Amino acid sequence: MPFTPTTNNPKACPRRLPQTLLPWHAAAWQRLAAGAERGQIAHALLIHGEGGLHKLQLGRQIAQGLLCERPVAARACGDCRGCLLFLSGNHPDWVEVFPVDSAVIKIDQIRELSARLSMRPQIASRQVALLWPAEQMNAASANALLKTLEEPSADTHLLLLADRIGRLPATIRSRCQRLPLVAHDDDATVGTVAALAGVEQPRARAALALAGFDPELALENLRPEVWSALATLTQRLIDVASGKLDSGTLAVNPKGEGAILLQRWSRLLALAVRGERLGSAPFDAWVDLTSRLEMSTLLPLATQLERARGMAGSGVREDLLLYDLAARWSQAFNHGERRRGA
Ligand SMILES: [Zn+2]
Repeated sequence: MPFTPTTNNPKACPRRLPQTLLPWHAAAWQRLAAGAERGQIAHALLIHGEGGLHKLQLGRQIAQGLLCERPVAARACGDCRGCLLFLSGNHPDWVEVFPVDSAVIKIDQIRELSARLSMRPQIASRQVALLWPAEQMNAASANALLKTLEEPSADTHLLLLADRIGRLPATIRSRCQRLPLVAHDDDATVGTVAALAGVEQPRARAALALAGFDPELALENLRPEVWSALATLTQRLIDVASGKLDSGTLAVNPKGEGAILLQRWSRLLALAVRGERLGSAPFDAWVDLTSRLEMSTLLPLATQLERARGMAGSGVREDLLLYDLAARWSQAFNHGERRRGA
């Protein structure tokens, strides 16, 4: 009787993912292709990198490549029987494990996975399992997984996805080949984000800088409503700094939106610290304005903002936090003007 995986996610069909090769995955693919050429793709791979680096997309692309009947340099062909079954979410030799109705991956899920991997593949030459996020395994689950990692069978591949590998037990880390991901501030990354979002490159570069070069966050920033909200906030902060707008107006927000404002303000301050004009209004006006502040004024403001973000989730009134920060913001510029005039 065929094994029916209970851990596959019908809502996460890989067909929905873009199949573009992303520049922040290029190094990982090079390494996989070199391994495939030697006939040596590790049985346990740990794909890791902090933030939104499309790890799930990469994990599924690698899984498809492993199940493809005609892969080229570890990449799937896209139209063999293995690929079509994978893309429809019905490949019998593929399983995904992730938290279900819980914050953690439970030991029963790992036991089920281990039982599954101890069987022979059904139609492919191997079985492939994708487990994410790996740091969501509790101690019991990680221990159970370790047994599978210690005795890998020749025809199984286990792909683990993690943001922070420091949260994984060393015993698990040491048994996996690591594929670290990082996005760089380069033309390839900017061009890809611009193409995915359908925007001009200067806007994509500004969105990436605002996101601390986290591509998924940059794409989120580029959603029209988010971009418009970022631009509006930037203009309001500029207006408060120049005295056109009362600082108190920054504290008046619909319920629950104070935390989002704090988060966006924090990203804008990171852009100010970076201090580079990116060819995208109104953020260039923002960089010009904040370049008038000394780092000794800017950095404490950034620290206060981070502290406020931490407090915002703990029941403290967001409007009071914002009122205080907005007053400090206004003062920073008045103070700066006086000092320059002195
Ligand atoms: Zn194929």
